[in-house]
Amino acid sequence: MRTLQDLEVLSGKRVLVRVDFNVPLDGQGNVADDMRIRETLPTLHELMRRGARLVLVSHLGRPRGREPEYSLAPVAERLSALLDKKVKLAPGVVGEAVTNLVDELRPGELLLLENVRFEAGETKNDPELAARLAALADVYVNDAFGVCHRTHVSTVGVARLLPHAAGLLVQREVETLREITENPPRPLVAILGGSKVSEKIKVIERFLRIADAVLIGGAMSFPFLAAQGHGVGISLCSDDDAELAAGLLAMPEAKAGQLLLPVDLVAAESFSADTAPVGIDGLDVPDGMMGLDIGPRTVARYAACIAEAGSVFWNGPMGAFELVPFAAGTRGVADAMAAAPGITVVGGGDSAAAVHQFGLAARMTHVSTGGGAALELIEGRQLPGIEVLS
Ligand code: ADP
Ligand code: MG
Repeated sequence: MRTLQDLEVLSGKRVLVRVDFNVPLDGQGNVADDMRIRETLPTLHELMRRGARLVLVSHLGRPRGREPEYSLAPVAERLSALLDKKVKLAPGVVGEAVTNLVDELRPGELLLLENVRFEAGETKNDPELAARLAALADVYVNDAFGVCHRTHVSTVGVARLLPHAAGLLVQREVETLREITENPPRPLVAILGGSKVSEKIKVIERFLRIADAVLIGGAMSFPFLAAQGHGVGISLCSDDDAELAAGLLAMPEAKAGQLLLPVDLVAAESFSADTAPVGIDGLDVPDGMMGLDIGPRTVARYAACIAEAGSVFWNGPMGAFELVPFAAGTRGVADAMAAAPGITVVGGGDSAAAVHQFGLAARMTHVSTGGGAALELIEGRQLPGIEVLS
């Protein structure tokens, strides 16, 4: 993969930077969480330092055409504040007015294009849009890891038409996630939770093969427990997932004891913060109740594994952490990772959100900015947006 270091002289060059500014808005025209904007600042600063003229391109949400509520205007404002420098917002993605604004850019200045998904060709990787976007720049840099698993104009089409490189964030994401799967300090411990086995089956399989221990939590536990004959009550657990879980339990690595399931649970009558949590010192969820968190003995057991690991990868919350009474399991795993001496990597939208919510992000080796992209990389798949940069 080509990186910023591989790019020759950038001074005065127009550099098109694919960033991931797909941030949550507060409904009043403000950015509600600017984490994704801040993550890409090192790349922007580096390109500015080298005298590039920056043209930034991002999507925001899933607009159907030019819907004003999906404008990147709030992002341009927040980015200007973060850089302490005016970032202009273009009136569109391509076209004469945009070209004129790009021509006016001086070295170190930035222009943010409007939401690239205002153009229908973006998600179809339309060659004509790719050519028009490429005409705005001399060099292409991709720093939007969260969309690298998509074959879109702004991730793949335009990258083929210009000299290209990965930005610092994409470089760090790929290097860290590859290290975990290819050359991890051992023992390697994977903690997998969240909602559905079927969505993550390939990730569980891969980790069962390469990790020294796979710890299961969250709603993902119930298909395994059901496959073992435990009662799961009304916990999230489809028959299909239980069948997949039975297949995983039959793998030699699982039989050798590398797959750890919870040993206790916290249940309640409904998915709500108002219901009374009931500790279950065992694995049978009573009829009419749902398991919503792992119990304290499970947390202690998982924390001990994490403390001894050379590297830890975590995806998926251990319970319904959005509800305060069921956040302890997720919090316990996050605390153990924050205190762990080994490499700690968090990948997944909700798990990353949990770590940020607990204020522990800075204590992890790496918190991935790409949920789906991180998992596809972990599965061993080639990401089209990364492949095109090599
Ligand atoms: P990630 O985004 O980190 O990959 P997922 O999207 O797979 O994670 O799962 C996150 C969701 O799973 C959260 O909304 C959480 O509430 C839910 N969840 C976790 N455990 C349970 C459970 N026991 N019952 C119901 N929902 C759960
Ligand atoms: Mg999620």
